[in-house]
Amino acid sequence: MKYLSTRDKTEATNAREAVLEGLAPDGGLFIPTELPEIGFAQNASIVEIAHKIAEIFFGSDIPSNKLLSACESAFNFPTEIVSLTDSRSVLELFHGPTLAFKDYGARFMSRIISLLLEQKNSEVTILVATSGDTGGAVAQGFYEVPGVKVVLLYPKDKVSRLQRQQFTTLGKNISALEINGTFDDCQSMVKSAFLDQELTGLAAANSINIARLIPQSVYYWYSSLRLEGKTVFSIPSGNFGNLTAASYAKKMGAPIHQLIAPTNSNDTVPRFIQSGEYQPKTSVHTVSNAMDVGNPSNFTRMLKLDPNLRQHLVSDSFSDPQTLAELKRVYDEHEYIMCPHTSVASLGLNNYKESVHNEVVVATAHPAKFLDTVEKTLDIKISLPSALKDVADLPSKSVSMEPDFLNLKEYLKNVQ
Ligand SMILES: *Cc1c(COP(=O)(O)O)cnc(C)c1O
Repeated sequence: MKYLSTRDKTEATNAREAVLEGLAPDGGLFIPTELPEIGFAQNASIVEIAHKIAEIFFGSDIPSNKLLSACESAFNFPTEIVSLTDSRSVLELFHGPTLAFKDYGARFMSRIISLLLEQKNSEVTILVATSGDTGGAVAQGFYEVPGVKVVLLYPKDKVSRLQRQQFTTLGKNISALEINGTFDDCQSMVKSAFLDQELTGLAAANSINIARLIPQSVYYWYSSLRLEGKTVFSIPSGNFGNLTAASYAKKMGAPIHQLIAPTNSNDTVPRFIQSGEYQPKTSVHTVSNAMDVGNPSNFTRMLKLDPNLRQHLVSDSFSDPQTLAELKRVYDEHEYIMCPHTSVASLGLNNYKESVHNEVVVATAHPAKFLDTVEKTLDIKISLPSALKDVADLPSKSVSMEPDFLNLKEYLKNVQ
């Protein structure tokens, strides 16, 4: 597969460059030159689907048998579909080691990057901004991987304590920078670093990296094949990477009737759907903090894929009180505990009026990651899964920093 830039000013490049560079030289995001139509048996496994997709997008740069081992070791945890009513189910994507769907993308990407570096015999610093769950998934994916250093930026006081513990306590090749600002500040510092001529050997691990985005289409294939009849997925969205991956799956032939992409109060995309104007604004803090994004970077990929996005995408914004009330409603009616992000997805479906066979709430994180919010809202105690218990009380090793790119530049020069 060859990759182009969303800004059209870069020549088609191979998968290796697209993965290792993260951002195209013209500042745009890499997008595949084609999305071929494919098909799978109805009972295809996650690994079978992942392998075929990996071959299509990375097969020109990495041999098929290596891609297969990468898929087997990356996707070694279950993907569950739990039904709530006859028509509504929850697609649980939080059974990986850091209990969020980001494990799919991060684990696959870390293996792809290792394979590409192995061929080149070189080293890299992975630079990544996190609004919460990316940090843990990326840190876990690259922990102790030879030749790779990871530098994570996260906004101070805006990620949950347990999310933070997952990536600030590891040490070794993982460094965490606590930025005294918002997620958008973190993301823009990272973007500046990639565009800086003096900083070299950097790779991106956000959903701007194609190796993280592509594997997220795997679970849409897997689940849409298993559910018969018209299927709608409601994807709780922040940076819109998960939505983009689902759109790629749909475009390539996955049996998906409609995608909906509800947001929290960070409503840049819902406002665009209403008005036709894309006006990013500073992110605000919400109870679904992993979606606190004011200028979603994958939006340009979505527009490239579908210039008539406004007519096709359903995207509404929901407030924190609505999110918490829905969390409680679902618990009271179904004894099912959602995380606040998943609750936003559930609200999105409540607003969707067309009658379909399958309404799928995409559950992006385990509720225990948001212990305080969930316990307080439902007035219950939930027990911590071992993945969280193990890190809950370890000492944090993060470094504080003001949201100024020059601070980051200085830091990176010393790390390298
Ligand atoms: C990252 C994240 C999201 C948002 O996903 P995007 O791909 O950025 O839209 C939603 N829920 C959880 C729990 C997340 O960690």
